[in-house]
Amino acid sequence: MLYDLHIHSCLSPCGDDEMTPNNICGMAHLAGLEVIAVTDHNAAANLPAVKKVADAFGIMLIPGIEMCTAEDIHLLCYFETVERCLEFEKLVLDSLPPIKNRKEIYGNQLIRNEDDEIIGEYEPLLIIGSSYSLWEAVELCHQMGGVAVYAHIDKNSFSALSVLGMLPPEINIDGVEIYDLANRPKLIRQGLITAETPFMSNSDAHYLEYIGEREEHLSKDHPLWELVKKLHYQKLQAE
Ligand SMILES: [Zn+2]
Ligand SMILES: [Zn+2]
Repeated sequence: MLYDLHIHSCLSPCGDDEMTPNNICGMAHLAGLEVIAVTDHNAAANLPAVKKVADAFGIMLIPGIEMCTAEDIHLLCYFETVERCLEFEKLVLDSLPPIKNRKEIYGNQLIRNEDDEIIGEYEPLLIIGSSYSLWEAVELCHQMGGVAVYAHIDKNSFSALSVLGMLPPEINIDGVEIYDLANRPKLIRQGLITAETPFMSNSDAHYLEYIGEREEHLSKDHPLWELVKKLHYQKLQAE
């Protein structure tokens, strides 16, 4: 299945205001994507609308969130239902320091409905570390039935490797995201991941034109495959 499992909506302050539910799904449709995930920083409030639009397009949505841990490590957490993801969001939001977004500096944090109308805005600054440590965040995600993946391990900031220098064996992570797959052989050579480490590569799109640029297919041995199977089954039941 052609996927892009790391897309930001207009709820992320760094996400373009044009990253609306309809624009994201329309672009994903044009790119031929079969499964997408919208993963905003520490937030999930646009997922109810994205889910409705994705359903209308016949695109599978994996509800997700890009959480920022206390160590400033970005962690992609995926869940079976939007409701479960919103429960997770609430815990994450409650753990953020009480700092308000300054739109003129960071950008808007817009909540939209399925017609792309603005129905709200988040006040707390979302691109900031929560009080959950990496270990706690992965545990919490798993307790809630989610799948936890290190975001963009090959990036120089906000990644597990840039912060910790290695991927701690004590952490029960499900997989890694490699921003540029050309880096994978080097990561294996350096012993930072193994050839067996489940991996994926996504656009991390903050602007519409980047959605689906990776043209990657999800393999059946990927940890997210089980989640995709469940969602596919639910979709068939609903039809
Ligand atoms: Zn990130
Ligand atoms: Zn991101």
